[in-house]
Amino acid sequence: MQSSAFDIVVIGGGHAGAEAAWAASRLGAKTALVSLDPTRIGAMSCNPAIGGLAKGQMVREIDALGGLMGIATDNTGIQFRMLNRSKGPAVWGPRAQADKYKYAAEVQRLLATCPNLSIIHGEVAELEVEETGGTGFQSVSDDRERGLKTRGTITGVRLADGTRLACRAAIVTTGTFLRALMHTGEQQTEGGRVGEQAARGLSGCLEKLGLELGRLKTGTPPRLKRQTIDFSRFAVQPGDEVPAPFSYLNEYEENAKCEMRNEEYSAFRIPRSAFVPPLSQISCWLGETNPRIHEIIRANIHRAPMYSGQIQSTGPRYCPSIEDKVVRFAEKESHQIFLEPEGLETDEIYCNGISTSLPADVQREMIRLVPGLENAEVLRWGYAVEYDMVWPHQIRATLETKAVAGLFLAGQINGTSGYEEAAAQGMMAGINATRYVTAGVADFVLRRDQAYIGVLIDDLVTKPPIEPYRMFTSRAEHRLLLRNDNADLRLTEIGRSVGLVDDDRWSRFAATRDAINTTVERLKQTKINGTPAFDLLRRPEHTWTSLADTLRAAGITADAQTGFRIETQIKYEGYIARQDKAIERMGKLEDKLIPADFNYARVVGLRNEARAKLQQFTPRSLGQALRISGITPADVTVLAVAIGRGPARVP
Ligand code: FAD
Repeated sequence: MQSSAFDIVVIGGGHAGAEAAWAASRLGAKTALVSLDPTRIGAMSCNPAIGGLAKGQMVREIDALGGLMGIATDNTGIQFRMLNRSKGPAVWGPRAQADKYKYAAEVQRLLATCPNLSIIHGEVAELEVEETGGTGFQSVSDDRERGLKTRGTITGVRLADGTRLACRAAIVTTGTFLRALMHTGEQQTEGGRVGEQAARGLSGCLEKLGLELGRLKTGTPPRLKRQTIDFSRFAVQPGDEVPAPFSYLNEYEENAKCEMRNEEYSAFRIPRSAFVPPLSQISCWLGETNPRIHEIIRANIHRAPMYSGQIQSTGPRYCPSIEDKVVRFAEKESHQIFLEPEGLETDEIYCNGISTSLPADVQREMIRLVPGLENAEVLRWGYAVEYDMVWPHQIRATLETKAVAGLFLAGQINGTSGYEEAAAQGMMAGINATRYVTAGVADFVLRRDQAYIGVLIDDLVTKPPIEPYRMFTSRAEHRLLLRNDNADLRLTEIGRSVGLVDDDRWSRFAATRDAINTTVERLKQTKINGTPAFDLLRRPEHTWTSLADTLRAAGITADAQTGFRIETQIKYEGYIARQDKAIERMGKLEDKLIPADFNYARVVGLRNEARAKLQQFTPRSLGQALRISGITPADVTVLAVAIGRGPARVP
């Protein structure tokens, strides 16, 4: 049997795997990406779109740290929209419709530029772990200090054809493929995605390593043939006239306006001064379901796998199937349907809003009752997929498993749902695995006040999801700070110190940061009618644009985007200062580490529920303990006294 040696093996080429391989190989680790079908690397299993509320912020963060998702989206986006513009900029969410074929091809092209990266076609069926007999130590430095024991250390992976790949770290990013079963009505087919096989071997292997697996479910809507749709019955949904890019490597000019071209997809022509998406821009369409459709769904609900008992696992509550919506919101007479082209050169139209696993005959009936879809031809039926995942209380905030040193998990396998959540974890796992193999220390963690990525991973390790986890702005207590406009100011220096931000990105960032700082200083020093310009911009009635002429006369200029960023920063400053105090208090708790061998059974005054939770999660610090669901500030105070590091001030 063949055998090769790598520093890191990434298992899976979805959004987590692509980002992990990009990060690890660019950081210098000799990396292999093994995927069931390399031509499907970067495939969008469901919606052909990236970003959205909170998810868009995460893509900006991935980009600010040097990841690939923002670049791939800008290069293949066919409609860009900033969501939530009616609210404050803190919760604006950039979203782009992508050409899904070009997106996957672009991810593959970007990966091909990575040094040290080999793409391998195959199924990883086994993980090789050298047992430590319970006496080995974890890789995390403070864990070593804390004396955490592991079952073993990863030494390689074995493919289904017997090939052995030796490695010092492995990142499992198997998405929806582990023991995957697809459902359309009563029909069940093995497979992780339509037309693709399931991965059978790895689940048993993870179980043998002592990891507790769960089973979750997600679903996708039918795809329709474009020429068979009467679009005149739908409302047109154009993109923004001025597309905002995801990547800080691309230019953005707020005042530039795009011209509409009245072609079938009403493509834009955009002046050169703005970010120019390389692909033509398209419109989407908006329609809705009606009571007759809901009646049909109710009449056939016993044939829906979620209701017939055929599917036992939990699906995403926030991304429900149409049958779920009709049952849960029985009083609603209609639900929105967005028709979204899957690409520029394909006939496929994605029906966003009617994800379903009802039988094909019911799907056909309900689609025909949508005005404009009377003659629509279905290219692919909607379906649901059930898959194995690993409950994430078994991983650390570095995404390394507690059981096996050098074994990392990222993406849907940790109970999340969504491309962006997967990509964010993939990047963090790629960075940490590289640090583990090069310095013996997987220690890269982002805090909740630094990034949505920090919120995501902290939530996963302290509150294991009971349903597929997706990001929302409401999950971030510091959301005024975690804006899409300032992801570079929050993270690019961190990305540079990690080594993922290259010279080009760094010099662009440094120029932007310096321009912002210099302009803010000048605003503080320059008075307009006796008031510092800085204070004027704080007032709700003034914007950068409304003051631009006055500022220019006072010698202060900046491009519209920089001006907008400065104005946003100034307007939020007061709120953020208040948040800073809470962050500081929390920071003190993060520094108070709990010894790994700490005996919770002997803590006097700890509630039984708290004791059980702490034994299950083994939190690394008092801060992490406080965020475990079911743990109260009073429990942490008792704990702080017991470990002799307190009494801690618990916010
Ligand atoms: P994936 O994108 O699933 O990629 C997994 C990769 O691992 C694949 O390349 C696969 O070939 C490879 N692989 C798996 N096992 C092995 C192995 N043993 N050896 C080698 N390679 C392996 N998300 C939403 O946010 N909303 C939705 O409504 C939604 N609906 C979905 C519906 C369906 C039917 C599917 C399939 C997915 C849906 N998703 C949805 C989920 C979305 O696709 C995922 O969140 C995202 O793709 C997860 O990324 P990932 O990298 O973790 O895994």
